[in-house]
Amino acid sequence: MIVSRTVEHVDVIIVGAGLSGIGGACHLKMQCPNKTFVILEGREAMGGTWDLFRYPGVRSDSDMYTLGYRFRPWRDAKAIADGHAILTYIRETADEFGVDKTIRYSHRVRRASWSSDHARWTVDVETGPGQSLVQLSCNFLYLCTGYYDYASGYTPDWPGVARFRGTLVHPQKWPEDLDYTGKRVVVIGSGATAITLVPAMAERAARVTMLQRSPSYVVSRPAEDKIANWLRRYLPDRAAYVLARWKNVLTGTFFYSLARKRPELFKWMVAKGVRKGLGQKYDSKHFTPPYNPWDQRLCFAPDADLFNAIRRGSVSVVTDHIDTFTEDGLLLKSGEHLNADIIVTATGLVLKLFSGMQLVVDSVPVDLPNTFVYKGMMFSDISNFAFAIGYTNASWTLKCDLTAEYVCRLLNHMDHHGYDICTPRVNDPDIGEEPVIDFNSGYVLRALHTLPRQGSKTPWRLHQNYMKDLRMMRYGRVDDGTMEFQTAPAARAAGAGVPSSG
Ligand SMILES: Cc1cc2nc3c(=O)[nH]c(=O)nc-3n(C[C@H](O)[C@H](O)[C@H](O)COP(=O)(O)OP(=O)(O)OC[C@H]3O[C@@H](n4cnc5c(N)ncnc54)[C@H](O)[C@@H]3O)c2cc1C
Repeated sequence: MIVSRTVEHVDVIIVGAGLSGIGGACHLKMQCPNKTFVILEGREAMGGTWDLFRYPGVRSDSDMYTLGYRFRPWRDAKAIADGHAILTYIRETADEFGVDKTIRYSHRVRRASWSSDHARWTVDVETGPGQSLVQLSCNFLYLCTGYYDYASGYTPDWPGVARFRGTLVHPQKWPEDLDYTGKRVVVIGSGATAITLVPAMAERAARVTMLQRSPSYVVSRPAEDKIANWLRRYLPDRAAYVLARWKNVLTGTFFYSLARKRPELFKWMVAKGVRKGLGQKYDSKHFTPPYNPWDQRLCFAPDADLFNAIRRGSVSVVTDHIDTFTEDGLLLKSGEHLNADIIVTATGLVLKLFSGMQLVVDSVPVDLPNTFVYKGMMFSDISNFAFAIGYTNASWTLKCDLTAEYVCRLLNHMDHHGYDICTPRVNDPDIGEEPVIDFNSGYVLRALHTLPRQGSKTPWRLHQNYMKDLRMMRYGRVDDGTMEFQTAPAARAAGAGVPSSG
């Protein structure tokens, strides 16, 4: 491996050119036009999730009025959008704001180390497998790396897998040439991916069986938002978008709080919808989860596509456990055998914050479980650093837009006052500790021990609520008594103000 010793310096490094990295770069262009920045992207394409996932029917399950950027209207008629339409939206946004030119592809950041003396991050970047390692430095590091491992998805260790003579596929690595026309398909899983894949594959497969260990809450919602489309007909794009976005923020917040405060009522409402969708085919066993709504993410079926496929008879649902894989399919604990030509393991992602990148502060490796999350975007005692992680109960971009705005506010505040360093410090002795996510989904539980913690009070508490975050992040004080601002020791020693950004 060749290590380049030339260190290029910019004001801000964004890691990741997915939905949030591109959004973050656009915010920098708009709010901090004088800052220099680059986006380092490990893959050869932008779009992140929306470029990686290629399985049949891949789509959002949030509406695009809230999953889209606040600053760029979503103009398609479909609110629950296809993966390709989302990818196009990201690419067009990058092009429109000129941030596509700032992306360095095949630049995978392996390590980032902070020096308090120099008020700088230095990042080690691999420019291809076994290729040269380059270093860049920046004043502020903004990680938009998503939340899961790009290398592979999660596959449980089932007995007998090697015996299966058919095709075994994980949705994260969908083979481009997989022909499932007329084939018997079993999809293992009951999360958003399974709920998406099953009706999509049923259009061409001979038969699709959704095999789930336990059911999910499935809610049908229209793929097109009639009110949003009506608004677009009569109002300028931007005004229609703002109204549709707020309508969906408010309805989403209302239904989430109803689910948490009145779970029995919410369960009844969901069950009523499923019964209506399935008619004679309704069997409560397959649609009554053993947990409360929003203990795990709800699944959405656009225009009741899953229910319609079950009604037509092209899809069946089986709730059971796998005993073993066989040559021809799966033997279940109940003794039933499911014959399959193709088995799709829609068993989830491997949650991996910052894709396993190593963070080092003043030569000491950061131990994330020992840190607290500040405003859902920074960590205690880690300077000039932010990350974009969206909501678990609403669209990702709602939070990431606020985070990017806040990063710009911080940068502008530091410039205005001549500071080089900003560090959130836990200076309230009464802060209690809580797990950072209150979901009990398998992928969260598997990774909980690797995650940071949240505190019992603002600004260390994750609100998971757009309105509260909006108040705190757009209108709240940047100098809030928790964020510590300093001038770099090296700059102080030299009697200079802010060091040159190179
Ligand atoms: C199939 C699927 C459907 C989803 N649907 C929804 C939905 O409907 N609504 C919703 O709110 N959320 C949804 N999500 C969550 C989704 O991931 C987010 O909405 C959003 O796309 C995440 O964007 P991101 O840019 O933060 O992360 P990502 O899309 O994961 O992009 C991260 C980027 O960072 C790059 N990267 C990572 N590590 C490094 C590194 N060390 N060096 C360089 N580059 C790096 C990656 O290559 C990638 O391009 C879905 C997720 C999946 C998997």
